[in-house]
Amino acid sequence: MITLALSKGRIFEETLPLLAAAGITVGEDPDKSRKLILPTNQPDVRIVMVRASDVPTYVEHGGADLGVAGRDVLLEHAAGGVGASSGLYQPLDLKIARCRLSVAVREDFDYARAVRQGSRIRVASKYVHLARQHFADKGVHVDLIKLYGSMELAPLTGLADAIVDLVSTGGTLRANHLREVEKIMDISSRLVVNAAALKLQREPIRRLIEAFASALPQD
Ligand code: ATP
Ligand code: MG
Repeated sequence: MITLALSKGRIFEETLPLLAAAGITVGEDPDKSRKLILPTNQPDVRIVMVRASDVPTYVEHGGADLGVAGRDVLLEHAAGGVGASSGLYQPLDLKIARCRLSVAVREDFDYARAVRQGSRIRVASKYVHLARQHFADKGVHVDLIKLYGSMELAPLTGLADAIVDLVSTGGTLRANHLREVEKIMDISSRLVVNAAALKLQREPIRRLIEAFASALPQD
C-alpha cells in the first residue's frame, strides 16, 4: 500500500491532474466527504487528508509514504524541528500552488523609514522561523508574534507593524489596505517522500515520481 498525504483545497485540486498522469483517480471529493482516508482506483494507493502544515510531519514519521507540501510549510517545518528533517526527501518541485512569501504593512506605515532608522518592528506571522531568518539576514530588529491565520488583521488592529504572509494576486492585501513591501521568496509545492518508504517500495514510488515529473508544465 502507498499512502499519499494531501491537504484540502488548492493542493488537492492541483495534484489531481498529476495523479491522473500516473493513472490514479480519486473517487471522492474531500470537500463533500467526511472521510479522512480516500481510496483511489488503484487498490494499493490511498490518499490521507491532513492539514497543510501537518504534511511534513506525516511523511517524516511514516504516517504517509509521500505527500505534497508548500515550500513555505517545508522550510518552516525544517527550521522548527529538532535537527534536520533527514527522513524527508524532496525529489520534485511540482510547480503547483505558486505564490510568494512577502512582508506587508499598512498603507500608511513607512516601512523603509522604520528599517533605515533601525526601529524595532513588530511582525506577525504563521511563519515565525522564516520571518526571523529574513529580518536577521537584513539586520532588522523584530519582535515576532505567532499567528495561525488571518494575518492581515494584525496591522489593522495595532497588534503588529508588519506581517509575513503568502501573496498571490495581492487582492487580499489591497482589500485590507495593506501594501507588499518585500518579497522574501517564491513558493511552490513539492513532492516529499519518506526515506524508509523509498527504500522499501522503491519501484512503485519511483514510477509515481516519474509520472508526476512527466505531467509537469515545461518551463
Ligand atoms: P491550514 O488550514 O493548515 O492553515 P492553509 O490555509 O495554509 O492550511 P492552503 O491555503 O490550502 O492551506 O495553503 C496550502 C499551501 O498552498 C500553502 O502552504 C502554500 O504553499 C500554498 N498557497 C497558500 N496560499 C496561496 C495562494 N494564495 N496562492 C497560491 N498558493 C498558495
Ligand atoms: Mg490558507
